[in-house]
Amino acid sequence: LSSSLKDVFKKISGSSYIDKETIKEVSKDIQRALLKADVNVKLVISLTNRLQERAATEKPPAGMSEQDFILKIIYEELLSILGEESRIELKPQTIMLVGLYGNGKTTTAGKLARFFIKKGLSVGLIAADVHRPGAYEQLEQISKQVNSLFYGEKNEKDPVKIIKNGLDRLGDAKVKIIDTSGRDSLDDELIDEIKRIKNEIKPDEVLYVVDATLGQQVGPQAKVLNDAVSISGVIITKMDGTGKGGGALSAVAEIKSPVYFIGTGEHMEDFEVFNPRKFLSRLLGMGDIDALMEAVKETNITEEEAEKSLDKLMSGKFNLKDMYDVWEKFSKPGLLKKIFNSMPLSRIPGGDKLNDSEIDRANEKLNIYRVILDSMTYSELENPDIINAKRIKRISIGSGKDEREVRALLKEYNAMKNNMKMIKSNRNFKKLLKSQM
Ligand code: GDP
Ligand code: MG
Repeated sequence: LSSSLKDVFKKISGSSYIDKETIKEVSKDIQRALLKADVNVKLVISLTNRLQERAATEKPPAGMSEQDFILKIIYEELLSILGEESRIELKPQTIMLVGLYGNGKTTTAGKLARFFIKKGLSVGLIAADVHRPGAYEQLEQISKQVNSLFYGEKNEKDPVKIIKNGLDRLGDAKVKIIDTSGRDSLDDELIDEIKRIKNEIKPDEVLYVVDATLGQQVGPQAKVLNDAVSISGVIITKMDGTGKGGGALSAVAEIKSPVYFIGTGEHMEDFEVFNPRKFLSRLLGMGDIDALMEAVKETNITEEEAEKSLDKLMSGKFNLKDMYDVWEKFSKPGLLKKIFNSMPLSRIPGGDKLNDSEIDRANEKLNIYRVILDSMTYSELENPDIINAKRIKRISIGSGKDEREVRALLKEYNAMKNNMKMIKSNRNFKKLLKSQM
């Protein structure tokens, strides 16, 4: 998907004017790219139809170039295929995984356990796949890897009995994750089995685990499962090593259940919260800084407006989540250095001595901090003031980093918050930011 769509974006920004012909040409390029990524033909056609219609009828807001406006429309329309962003709740709950053989349920049970454990919620894994030989051992092994509790019964053939016993025995675990049986295809036996589990156990979430390499052929499967057990969320596995991710994503978007996570490899850490905007930015090869500026562009692009948006970014309401975003945006090679150099060095502690190796070290540190931030809950990221000693300890354990490092990060956050206020009034810095738009 990525390379050819990237070319479309380059083509538009590089063209001196946009007329009907250009739009037609670009529509064809987009169609080709999306079809290659396995997105459904009907969806592709309706997307390019909307693009042509909007390009013909809508006018760019004052100050926005025709080129940027077309890019914005394409971006919005692409985003609409991916669905809205939605995050799984961080609370005590019971989660049931469903899906066919080999799609990655058992592996994902472990990844999901690791995710919750890192957020400070203890997890119990329940082995309720009574069909596949070795399923018990596989999940038991995984639970050891991720340090979760585990429950299973080797000789019991009724999954509902196992789950009931498991929920009982793992009562202390905050999050219980149930790994169920798959089949080679969606037969009545499987549907009956998962329906019975759902009705008797009443899990809070029913998550559909599906392999991205299957492409858009997952559409009918998702529909049947959704009709049977009403899927509350989707996890798409094996996004690594497939150009067909667009197919699976657009196909599951039809059942209107949010995609919570994507699997990007066989290891427990190869797991990401799915964020459609970020995902699209990555596919389009727009640097993260562009994603930031996208937000500016969306409101308006007049100098004054852009300035306002930047002011907002640097104003007092600056939490750990913002810091995380800013870091992500600025950790592009070279950019950090450019930014440091644009600031009056006397204002940065030790700034007068900043050289290349310092910058490397800063980047290294950012990587450590990122791991720590990953272990924080949403409310901690949004409201860092609540992070007390007890929480620091949990974050330290979850991230595998020293408590001292967690404290250092918080200290730096406070310093950065103050710096943000300070550079708010620095014109050079603002100019640099704007030049990246
Ligand atoms: P299940 O039958 O649905 O329980 O599937 P498993 O969890 O046993 O996974 C089947 C195979 O897919 C295993 O070899 C996993 O290592 C592999 N797998 C699972 N998730 C991913 C992923 O995100 N990327 C890759 N490359 N392989 C995965
Ligand atoms: Mg399995």
